[in-house]
Amino acid sequence: MSIRAAKVETGPRNGREYDPKIHETVNVRRHRIDCLFVRTKIGDRASRVVIAGAGPAGSSLAIRLAHYGFDVTLIERERFPRHKLCGEFISPESLGHFRDLGVRDDLLSLGGQRIYKTRFSNRKGRSFVISSGILNGEGFALSLSRYEMDRCLMERAKALGVRVLDGTRVANVMADGESITRVEAVGDERETIIADIFVDATGRASALRKAADRVAGGPGEAGKPLAIAFKTHLESVRIEPGTCEIFFFPGGYGGITSIEAGLANLCFMMRASKARELGADADVLLRKAVCQSRTAASCLEGADRVRDWLAVSIGSFGRTPRPRMRNLLSVGDAAAFIDPFTGSGMLMALEGSKLLADIITSTSFGPVSIQEAYDAAFARAFGRRLRVCSLLRRAAFLPMVPSIAISLLGSSPRGRNYLAGATRSEAASG
Ligand SMILES: Cc1cc2nc3c(=O)[nH]c(=O)nc-3n(C[C@H](O)[C@H](O)[C@H](O)COP(=O)(O)OP(=O)(O)OC[C@H]3O[C@@H](n4cnc5c(N)ncnc54)[C@H](O)[C@@H]3O)c2cc1C
Repeated sequence: MSIRAAKVETGPRNGREYDPKIHETVNVRRHRIDCLFVRTKIGDRASRVVIAGAGPAGSSLAIRLAHYGFDVTLIERERFPRHKLCGEFISPESLGHFRDLGVRDDLLSLGGQRIYKTRFSNRKGRSFVISSGILNGEGFALSLSRYEMDRCLMERAKALGVRVLDGTRVANVMADGESITRVEAVGDERETIIADIFVDATGRASALRKAADRVAGGPGEAGKPLAIAFKTHLESVRIEPGTCEIFFFPGGYGGITSIEAGLANLCFMMRASKARELGADADVLLRKAVCQSRTAASCLEGADRVRDWLAVSIGSFGRTPRPRMRNLLSVGDAAAFIDPFTGSGMLMALEGSKLLADIITSTSFGPVSIQEAYDAAFARAFGRRLRVCSLLRRAAFLPMVPSIAISLLGSSPRGRNYLAGATRSEAASG
């Protein structure tokens, strides 16, 4: 969905014709962040933007806004570069975004592997293959560590004049009514940063939104983890070149793909209850659960782990609550978490930040707030794929269903191409 179309659809409301003067005046009284604000402040290249989180969503948004001349501060909790839990499969459609961001060639030169097909296998090794060529892009996906990818994006942001504070976390939020006025960033030093627009790109932590919701008196969010995920890098993995292996095992699924420097990424996710039952130690889970998959066992035979395990718990999937503060927007996993087996979380982060950058830099909105415009565009762009993934996730964790689905899809090229496309934008499948 292009932003041009979104703008047209978010124009006159309630069947009334759009009279800029009347609507802007009315809205200015009603809201702090309204269409006039969109025009005079957000559309104003001197606007100050604070982005929390320098994963693909935050860094790519920083690059896009800096390119348009905005004054951007990017705050990242970790000291970069750093390893990050992820399957490190960069889907083919992402390369177009990287070209726009000015990092495509750098990323391709870092030794990652080009992935031409993804094989999905059930526990017994029965499988089907999806070619990278059916997705929009250049016919291949890229497998590259997040250590390199995220570093490269952050360097690009710095080169464009973004003020980057890494090793610094967004700790507190100060507000005036329904708008954030400043955030407190805590690193080696403590700093208060004033801005006009604030963006939560802190991933599934949604740290900035949660801090802002606390100030707005919102309910705290707590819940039991639904799933636990683990990741490591290994050497001497036996994997067909150019292939990403996705395999199912009782209670979960995982992936193996070659990355740079002769290493491979192993990442798996399983139901939290199953992991607890087996002891929740990654090496034990690998032996007792993951290697029940014939594919995993065969790829990993004789492999050596070269890094510590990274682990995260996953509390929810899909769309997250909308921020209460009117000048706070969420992007990437902080806005919605799509199921990892689609290999499209990073793509969604890149697409979402493009959507948001287009809205922030637009100067010709109708009488809608920036949040309303973004929400509507977000639902149009990602609603269907999030619904499809929610159904697939439920199926993936049921006993026997992955095996049956893999058998059925194995004999239906149209079915699997349709499914691959449905987990992405509407125009993605060929
Ligand atoms: C098991 C698993 C496997 C996956 N495999 C793939 C895959 O193969 N391909 C794919 O495309 N996607 C995959 N994903 C999804 C992908 O990792 C995410 O969709 C993607 O990282 C989202 O990017 P982001 O920028 O929104 O968030 P993140 O990449 O999570 O970045 C958020 C950043 O915010 C920082 N941060 C957190 N709190 C604060 C704070 N208080 N202040 C400042 N900074 C903060 C973090 O340190 C982090 O650097 C996988 C996810 C999981 C769980």
